[in-house]
Amino acid sequence: MGGKQRGVTVWFTGLSGAGKTTIAKCVHTRLTNAGLKAECLDGDVIRTKLCNDLGFSKQDRHTNIERVSYVAQLLTKHDVICLASLISPYRSMRQYAKEEIGDWLEVYVTAPLELLIARDVKGLYRKAIAGEILHFTGISDPYEPPLAPDLVLETDQQDVQACAQHVIDLLANRGYITRG
Ligand code: ADP
Repeated sequence: MGGKQRGVTVWFTGLSGAGKTTIAKCVHTRLTNAGLKAECLDGDVIRTKLCNDLGFSKQDRHTNIERVSYVAQLLTKHDVICLASLISPYRSMRQYAKEEIGDWLEVYVTAPLELLIARDVKGLYRKAIAGEILHFTGISDPYEPPLAPDLVLETDQQDVQACAQHVIDLLANRGYITRG
């Protein structure tokens, strides 16, 4: 990687606990260590700030994606590598993001649901299964897997570093960063 880059949003989609944030952070570290400009837009963080008024109804999820897409589009336009990790369960909403942002790569982060329930990083699956959280994607709300993602990362098969490397390779192969 050299100092050259072109703006793009890498959109990590997948169920809670699949590994979106962990991989995005690892990619961010690698890019910034190489002197490149990158920014993370993390769904969980954004819901405590820009979108702290929103819940998980379909309408609110759509508004969430609209706001994040707006910010991602600005960063992308200014040649930042934007790493957006959001469950974003509906194809139509990811399509919206793609159209708004333009330079957009879809990365599907996935692992078997049983493993996600076993990991239960945030303790949310236990609550969702107990019926304490409604509209929980994968348990009581739908998830529509990408039909033609730019990259699939199976986090039960490969560790974080290997997954991050695939993202870096994708960015290089599509000409968004130059290898140096
Ligand atoms: P998400 O952002 O998709 O909700 P997180 O990144 O918060 O998921 O949590 C994923 C969990 O899975 C973390 O505890 C992480 O350490 C673990 N994990 C195990 N293997 C991987 C992998 N290959 N990639 C990403 N995370 C992994």
